[in-house]
Amino acid sequence: MNDSKIIVALDFPDAVSALTLVDQLEPELCKLKVGKELFTAEGQALVRELVKRGFKVFLDLKFHDIPNTVASACSVAADLGVWMMNVHASGGRKMMETAANRLAQLESRPLLTGVTILTSLSEEEIHEIGYAGTTEENVLRLAKLAESSGLDGIVCSPLEAAPVRKIVDDSFQLVTPGVRPSFASTDDQKRIMTPADALNAGASYLVIGRPVTAAEDPMKNLQLIFEEVSA
Ligand code: C5P
Repeated sequence: MNDSKIIVALDFPDAVSALTLVDQLEPELCKLKVGKELFTAEGQALVRELVKRGFKVFLDLKFHDIPNTVASACSVAADLGVWMMNVHASGGRKMMETAANRLAQLESRPLLTGVTILTSLSEEEIHEIGYAGTTEENVLRLAKLAESSGLDGIVCSPLEAAPVRKIVDDSFQLVTPGVRPSFASTDDQKRIMTPADALNAGASYLVIGRPVTAAEDPMKNLQLIFEEVSA
C-alpha cells in the first residue's frame, strides 16, 4: 500500500530527466506530482509510465475554464489512472460541482482538489484582481466553497493549514507545498514549514521538490523526510 504523505514534485523539462530521478525513488515512500511543464513536454505517455511503475500520480494542471470543459478534461485525466488532480477554486461552484459530479460517475475516481489563492500572489495583487479582504480570508472562503462544491480537498500554504483545518471536515485533504526539511536549503520558498510542523498544522500531504529532486542522493533525502513524518 502506498500511503506516504510525501508527494515529490517532478519539476523537469523532459521524460529522460524525470525518469532518471524516478529510477532512484520507491513508490512506498512517495507519490509523484506532474505539473504543467513536464506534462506539456511529455503528455500522457509519461503519466502512464509512472502509474505503471506503481506510483500514485498527482496531475497538477490546475484547470480553470467553463464547467463542461473542465469536467471533460478531468474525465480524460481520470482515464490516465492518476490518483489526484486539481482545478482552481476561483472557477466557481458550478465548475467544481460539474467536475466532481463527472468524476463521481466513474468506478474508481481520482481525488479532486482546488487551488485557493496562489501563494505567489501578494495581498496587493489579490486586491488588484478584485478580491477584498486579507489573503487568509480569501483562502478560507475558497476552501469552504471547494468543500461545499464536492471537492476532496485544497492546495494551500502550510501556514494556512491550521486555520483551514478548523473550518473544514477532518476528511478534507490539505495538500501543502512550501515544505522544507530542517536539513535542506530553503531555495526560493519564503513561507515555509518543516514536514512535521506542516502535518501538525493539519496538512494531509506534503509537496516537496528540490530537497529531493536536486539532492546528491535523492533516495537518502526522501528516506530522511519519510522517517521524519512517520515518527
Ligand atoms: O522545489 P519545491 O519544493 O519548492 O517545489 C514545490 C512544488 O510545489 C513546485 O512544483 C511548485 O510549483 C509547487 N508549488 C509551490 N507553491 C505553491 C503551489 C505549488 O511551490 N503555492
